[in-house]
Amino acid sequence: MEAVRRRCSGKCPGAPEPGYTTQTFERRGSLVKVTIRGIPADVCPLCHEAFVSSKTGRQIDLLLEPFHGKHERIPALPPAQVTIDFAEATAVLKAA
Ligand SMILES: [Zn+2]
Repeated sequence: MEAVRRRCSGKCPGAPEPGYTTQTFERRGSLVKVTIRGIPADVCPLCHEAFVSSKTGRQIDLLLEPFHGKHERIPALPPAQVTIDFAEATAVLKAA
């Protein structure tokens, strides 16, 4: 995997290394909390800050869209917590 960042942010001297991260996404106006696990990212071994590539960021947007909508359009869904496996979900997206 191509490294996204060689240096961590701010004053952290850490050097991010290829790995995986889990992130939870919330959107104002939506009652659905989406956790995506196994996101490929460069993770700082010191402060655990994760950096995702722009390609991965676009894939995350696609995965969030059914739950959080697009632009100003937010789907009317009941309160829920959703967990998505990044590798499984992107494989389904590619197959579609
Ligand atoms: Zn760091």
